[in-house]
Amino acid sequence: MLEALRSIVQAVNAAGNLQSALDIIVSRIAEVMGTEVCTVYLRDPDSGRLIFMANQGLNPDLIGKISLGPDEGLVGQVARREEPINLDHAEKHPNFLYLPGIGEEQYHSFLGAPIIHQRSVMGVLVVQQKDSRRFDENEEAFLVTMSAQLAGVIAHARATGSITTSQNAVGATASFKGIAGATGIAIGRAVIVAPIAELHSVPRRQSDDPQLELQAFQAALQAVRTDIHALSEKLLTQLPADEHALFDVYLRIIDDGTWAAEVVKKINEGEWAQGALSQVMSSHIRTFEMMEDAYFKERATDIKDLGRRVLAYLQTSDVEPAEYPDKTILVGEELTASMLGEVPREKLVGMVSVRGSSNSHVAILARAMGIPTVMGAADLPYTQIENANLIVDGYSGYVHYNPSAEVYEHFRSVSEEDQVLTQGLEALRDLQSETLDGHRMPLWVNTGLMADVARSLDRGAEGVGLYRTEIPFLLRERFPSEEEQRAIYREQLIAFAPLPVTMRTLDIGGDKALPYFPIEEENPFLGWRGIRVTLDHPEIFLVQVRAMLKASEGLNNLRIMLPMISNVQEVDEALELVRRAYDELVEDGWDITLPPIGVMVEVPAAVYQARQLARRVDFLSVGSNDLTQYLLAVDRNNTRVADLYHAYHPAVLNSLQQVVDAAHAEGKPVGICGELAGDPAAVLLLMAMGYDMLSMNDNSLLRVKAVIRSCRFDDLEGLLSAAMQVDTADEVKALLRRAMIDIGMERLLQPVGA
Ligand code: PEP
Ligand code: MG
Repeated sequence: MLEALRSIVQAVNAAGNLQSALDIIVSRIAEVMGTEVCTVYLRDPDSGRLIFMANQGLNPDLIGKISLGPDEGLVGQVARREEPINLDHAEKHPNFLYLPGIGEEQYHSFLGAPIIHQRSVMGVLVVQQKDSRRFDENEEAFLVTMSAQLAGVIAHARATGSITTSQNAVGATASFKGIAGATGIAIGRAVIVAPIAELHSVPRRQSDDPQLELQAFQAALQAVRTDIHALSEKLLTQLPADEHALFDVYLRIIDDGTWAAEVVKKINEGEWAQGALSQVMSSHIRTFEMMEDAYFKERATDIKDLGRRVLAYLQTSDVEPAEYPDKTILVGEELTASMLGEVPREKLVGMVSVRGSSNSHVAILARAMGIPTVMGAADLPYTQIENANLIVDGYSGYVHYNPSAEVYEHFRSVSEEDQVLTQGLEALRDLQSETLDGHRMPLWVNTGLMADVARSLDRGAEGVGLYRTEIPFLLRERFPSEEEQRAIYREQLIAFAPLPVTMRTLDIGGDKALPYFPIEEENPFLGWRGIRVTLDHPEIFLVQVRAMLKASEGLNNLRIMLPMISNVQEVDEALELVRRAYDELVEDGWDITLPPIGVMVEVPAAVYQARQLARRVDFLSVGSNDLTQYLLAVDRNNTRVADLYHAYHPAVLNSLQQVVDAAHAEGKPVGICGELAGDPAAVLLLMAMGYDMLSMNDNSLLRVKAVIRSCRFDDLEGLLSAAMQVDTADEVKALLRRAMIDIGMERLLQPVGA
């Protein structure tokens, strides 16, 4: 059964469009279950009617032409009740509806299962047979499992099909839902970026010179042939004959002219070599993956491997620097910091990542740089939209492909209003961050790139609450040396001096992988990350701390902060290492002072031990991004559970209050440097809780200041106690919305018209 399930899902995944996916579903299910009839009814989102979309065994002329209302027939009942029906005499059931011409008369037994994707019914899957018998438990379980597995595939095919099927239709438009990653509206053109040697993410692109593309392809093929020969020779004596025969298989695949001829044909038709290779190889891989025979199935892996090798050569020979048009919207399966870094800032207006969520680091970077971004646009057929007109709505998380004139006009005006709002806020930059009744609230910034610095100062930042040192590490091809690090850190410290700069020690692992220091783990967020890595590698930690301390000479505005602390021993060990680095440098003649050292509270354990931690250090800083993730057990990058990730969750708010109380009980200041600190509405609560400092990306700074200058500190206590008494994040959100309206700051919740 499992094998049958897997092979059907694979076949459906490989289908070119929605209709062929549905056709495969009905024919394969009928075959595997041995039923005479199998049907998929799909629910039309507008009318709610269930359309007879694909069928095996009934009248094919009616496909797409008849439908059932949501209250009609057994199919309607399955959809309405969201549960299967299993009947031996369908025609005797009170809800049975006779559809003339469909040819159901002779079929007595009926088994229907709802197709549900993300809580909404997409359709109904039905099998029927002539014999009057109830389907047995196994059959029922099979159909239910099948329908659960197919729901996602159908949803995806349906969404992507909106472009695939409309590609030839002039003016066709489509919208794709993702997650708001960075606010703002971007209107521009899609530029697709793909990681090296990923066959499936190569964009389709027309070449200017097919002859050149052909040459590149032949050269890449020859290079791979040479590599495989070399590998084969090398391993000749080390491998048993059987395993060694694998290389012959590889060479045979390379020398089998069929697929290469297909690639050549596509290149001659105008596709660039990488695109031609990716399309041909992907189709061969799918064919092999669908085969029943285990031996042939395995060949798919070989073909994939070879395809990637050829692609890698094509990508390295593609030496032309990428051309980015004005108003580039960067689109990719999984955008990374380095992809972002390659685009000249003045050309980049927006970003769309098919994977990830608003808490992925690329989204955090996007917010820091003010680039409207949508994350987790899972259904976007990104390889097919190179050069297309796109609108990125970073407020609602929608991507509009080839927008109509009205949609375009709407977003153009929202974007203009946005600019007016931003310009209006500029006037606040030199004004104090204090409430109407005189409560001061220091606003600091989070930085990572040098580019953040000038903007932050320009917007009146009073210090750096989080300098993410991993960002300069991420943008390199090896660990930066002590001297390189010293120079980078000094630049930051000088730029802000005498204002304080809080440098966090290297926080890698989890979703932050250094290309040159890969960490492969089953469960990276619960694995080797942050302080755990650097304590295990004191040489990395010491080099970094020494670089920070040296950089601070004569400036004395450095603060050091430790990420991902989950117990006090980690703090004690780290303090000892910092002290050692400091003593050695002083001994070597450096004129430095020991900086204040703080701990990030981003793991639930640290909330419960906040007092013990605060006792050991000079300050605490809450990392609300990770704290929310770990408290709610919701992966901050997983689109599927993004709806559950909410920093307004009462459990999170309670923890935030607990940390303030603990730090203050020890007489230590406490700040917050997660994204929540830059949320203008949440700031009302954070101030009332007693936070001493808020650190955010510089784009939020003036918005937050506008809110602070519009409220009375005395009123916030009431708001906080109301928020602490409700049971859900939604209720907190509603309370904050009300409060923002009351102080005349509603426009900072979302732009007018969006
Ligand atoms: C956090 O977790 O809130 C935080 C500020 O750190 P990062 O987002 O870099 O993990
Ligand atoms: Mg963190």
